[in-house]
Amino acid sequence: MIDFSLTQEQQILQNQARDFAQNEIAPIVRIIEESNNPEIEPWEFCKSLFYKGSGLGFTSLMLPKELGGRGRKCIDLAIVLEEIGAVDASIACSYFNLNAAMSLFVTRVATQEQQKRILSFVNSETPHLFSAAESEPNVATSDLFCPIPDSNIGIKTSAVRNGDVYILNGTKSSLVTNGGIADAYFIIARTAIAKPLHESLSIFYVEADRPGIKFGKKAQMIGWKASHHGEICLDNVAVPVENLIGQEGEAAKLLMLLPEVAIGLAASYVGLARAAYEYALNYAKHRISWGRPIIEHQAVALKLADMMINTQAARLIVWDAASTAETSPQLAATVKAPAAKTFAVDVAIKNAQTAVEILGGYGVTKESLAGKFLADATIGYSCDFTREVLRLGIVNFL
Ligand SMILES: Cc1cc2nc3c(=O)[nH]c(=O)nc-3n(C[C@H](O)[C@H](O)[C@H](O)COP(=O)(O)OP(=O)(O)OC[C@H]3O[C@@H](n4cnc5c(N)ncnc54)[C@H](O)[C@@H]3O)c2cc1C
Repeated sequence: MIDFSLTQEQQILQNQARDFAQNEIAPIVRIIEESNNPEIEPWEFCKSLFYKGSGLGFTSLMLPKELGGRGRKCIDLAIVLEEIGAVDASIACSYFNLNAAMSLFVTRVATQEQQKRILSFVNSETPHLFSAAESEPNVATSDLFCPIPDSNIGIKTSAVRNGDVYILNGTKSSLVTNGGIADAYFIIARTAIAKPLHESLSIFYVEADRPGIKFGKKAQMIGWKASHHGEICLDNVAVPVENLIGQEGEAAKLLMLLPEVAIGLAASYVGLARAAYEYALNYAKHRISWGRPIIEHQAVALKLADMMINTQAARLIVWDAASTAETSPQLAATVKAPAAKTFAVDVAIKNAQTAVEILGGYGVTKESLAGKFLADATIGYSCDFTREVLRLGIVNFL
């Protein structure tokens, strides 16, 4: 029998995440959104949230206990991220999901020495913020999925070995999450520029204060107002060989071992889809038209039912991917996690659009949250690969 009910321990975790999201994250998000000022630095507002949430274990939930983690499962992280995503998708994805996933990545593929060094902060009061940089300004990030073995296709950032160091040169795009505010970067670079992309990508752990690393322009996005995205310029950055994660040329293969990134994004977007549904439901119960609440008009009621059904379907596809990540990580990484990400984002976009409609004219004003839901949901389309490219990837493994 398949049991979808949460254990008592999971219910406690869910309540803890919900309280944190609604009581501590929501007021900060309101300040950022209402300021409507592109000059403000959201990290200044979110840093204390990140520290507090990390203290509650939300970024180390899945790490082994011997490395300071909680030894919990992917589904537990999905439960937490749904709650945070219901309040703000950018905070869920940029701070909590990204850090949880990259820390996990380190425990899976780094040497013991690297694990100790990189994760030494896990239980500190000021845990490190990570960033993972692949995208570049003049290269289609979708090239990562290109099966053609042509060395001209794909990213150009290079890492050339010179004795005990690699010298990194290149520019990473302004979309990179936490680019400019992170304590350390996982930089994807090519160690053999003449070889095809999939044989030449390597991952380096680069501390933010290494000479030669500079931060360029920030992206101004239509939503995700609580997160920071910025360009990273690498100008002859010397990185010790001890900071190469895995072997040269293995990055593409290693990243396949991390379905949790997409699952975490998907869970955050289930949260957004749920929030849009609940917001529209509440409005529909109170808005009177033709003498009765609009929920009593079938045209509105059917929309609300679809929102609920689609949210539940998205949650189940995410939980299935999370469960598969424990039993069959390869299947999770190639099929179930990308499927969950693309489906949950599509549901979030649809629910947000419907919320805008149900709120009538108010749906397009700043007075309501519907516009925020729609902007934040739309950003999910291209964050961590687009709907089309993810589907093309899935098809290769069917
Ligand atoms: C909020 C956010 C956060 C991000 N964070 C990070 C980060 O932390 N680190 C990082 O490295 N990057 C990050 N990115 C970048 C992100 O990974 C890319 O934007 C995304 O993968 C799409 O790549 P692109 O923008 O280069 O679009 P392109 O690859 O140029 O694609 C443009 C369009 O063409 C379509 N397309 C391209 N190739 C094909 C094909 N073969 N078949 C069919 N359609 C195709 C795409 O679906 C898309 O619609 C982030 C992006 C966003 C929006």
